[in-house]
Amino acid sequence: MKTDKKKVIICGSGNAALCAGIAALEQGADALILEKASIEEAGGNSRYTAGAMRFAYQSCDDLLPLLHTPFAERLDRTEFGSYPAQKFADDLCSFNAGKPLNTKQKILVEDSYDTILWLSKHNIGFDPIYSRQSFQKNGKYVFWGGLVLEAQGEGVGLVDAEMQEFLRLGGSVKYEFECTKLVTDDIGVCGVYCNTPSGLKRLLADAVVLACGGFEANSDMRRRYMGEKWSDAIVRGTRHNTGAGIEMATAVGADMCGQLDACHAVPMDLHTPEFGNIDLPFNERKHYRKICYFLGIMLNAKGERFVDEGENFRNYTYAQFGREILNQPNGFAWQLFDSQVDELLYDEYRFEHASAVQAETIDDLVSMLDGVDACKALNTIHEFNNAADSTNAFDPTVLDGRRTNGLCVDKSNWANKLDKPPFKAFPVACGITFTYAGLRVHDDASVIDTDGESIPGLYACGELVGDVFSAGYPGGSGLTSGAVFGRIAGRSAAQISSR
Ligand SMILES: Cc1cc2nc3c(=O)[nH]c(=O)nc-3n(C[C@H](O)[C@H](O)[C@H](O)COP(=O)(O)OP(=O)(O)OC[C@H]3O[C@@H](n4cnc5c(N)ncnc54)[C@H](O)[C@@H]3O)c2cc1C
Repeated sequence: MKTDKKKVIICGSGNAALCAGIAALEQGADALILEKASIEEAGGNSRYTAGAMRFAYQSCDDLLPLLHTPFAERLDRTEFGSYPAQKFADDLCSFNAGKPLNTKQKILVEDSYDTILWLSKHNIGFDPIYSRQSFQKNGKYVFWGGLVLEAQGEGVGLVDAEMQEFLRLGGSVKYEFECTKLVTDDIGVCGVYCNTPSGLKRLLADAVVLACGGFEANSDMRRRYMGEKWSDAIVRGTRHNTGAGIEMATAVGADMCGQLDACHAVPMDLHTPEFGNIDLPFNERKHYRKICYFLGIMLNAKGERFVDEGENFRNYTYAQFGREILNQPNGFAWQLFDSQVDELLYDEYRFEHASAVQAETIDDLVSMLDGVDACKALNTIHEFNNAADSTNAFDPTVLDGRRTNGLCVDKSNWANKLDKPPFKAFPVACGITFTYAGLRVHDDASVIDTDGESIPGLYACGELVGDVFSAGYPGGSGLTSGAVFGRIAGRSAAQISSR
């Protein structure tokens, strides 16, 4: 029997793909997800995340409908503050090198809360991120940095709940279906070729949504677009995001946009495995990350500091500091802390396999920093301690202005002297999270060709879309971007006019 239901194929099974799938099903379309990975490795980078999602909100009243347990005991003692849309816009704009927000970024901000609410109506529960986004102060949990909720069960919980919803609404999924090429006719895109366990297949559809990630896991593309030194960066997430969506789309005339060498990259344990390893228990996987540098200092091989570790709240700097570490001699650094901040260090610093050294004196600690000019390092620490002004009280819930003065690279906040033993140091390298450049899309998520026209039948969302992030990233925006543009892409694809 002929049906006028639109058929939408979605490449990928991460957060962006699943949001596109749910939105397409809501519009009455048939939705089929094609995922390159096996069921065990599916879900992309989204599964590796902490599930933290940034969105604009006015007050706790906006958060309550989203919370998995709205009556939890700690809520009465929690200060979430507010994160108005204008602050989200300003945060994005601060990374735009002086350019105003583009339309994609405006949509991200304006649709952020509504999209999270939409997810919660689709049975995705959220919890406050007490462990990483709040500190205790005067008996209260005080949130900082505009990022307050994570999906229940973090990235694994988010993707599992979205997949459950997608299947409940009637969607279907094929694993180990690697999309390799788009099928085109005289109108536009009408399907996709896939490598499958039973050979090459051609699957037809009214519309195709590409949601199959950036090129961060492809060392050749990293070398080509980002430069030689990126070819050896640690890949924090899935090994499957090798830029296939970008290559398939550009092969049918799609245009790319964004800064090709820009990416999200963070400090990671120097001995992190080459790729994120989804087989490891979740707690173990996330413990390779090392992002508490704002509580101490970082030294490079020359024994010098090279960034203002306290420039801003951690979630506005961590995604840029991976690159800064890669740019240091031999691409590594050491993070140093004293015992005053020991309790504030995230669990990842107590991970049994964390690479670390500990000593009772700074002299002894410095002698244990492999690959570092010990003499210069000692000088740097003495200079830092002498330049630290203790007038302002240390307070990690605000930009406390407890700073150094007169150094080549000052520390602007949380600048405690390193003088309370025992001292600890952790070696770190650069881990790439995801790439920022990608396909050029219209506001309806349709992919744009090099003549500026939409390619009929082709949509894109998630990491493989360019120009949402440029020189930096406010933490927790990637999942929100995938959800916002995934929902738009799914709706648009389902509403495509009949061929
Ligand atoms: C360790 C880590 C922690 C992070 N934490 C956060 C966080 O807390 N908050 C946040 O906002 N962001 C976080 N991010 C960033 C976030 O993961 C991404 O922004 C987001 O998940 C991207 O979603 P996506 O759906 O576009 O891509 P993905 O989730 O990566 O999904 C892409 C999918 O496409 C599949 N695929 C690839 N090629 C093909 C092909 N040829 N055919 C078919 N399928 C294919 C992949 O297997 C994968 O399943 C984190 C990332 C990492 C790696």
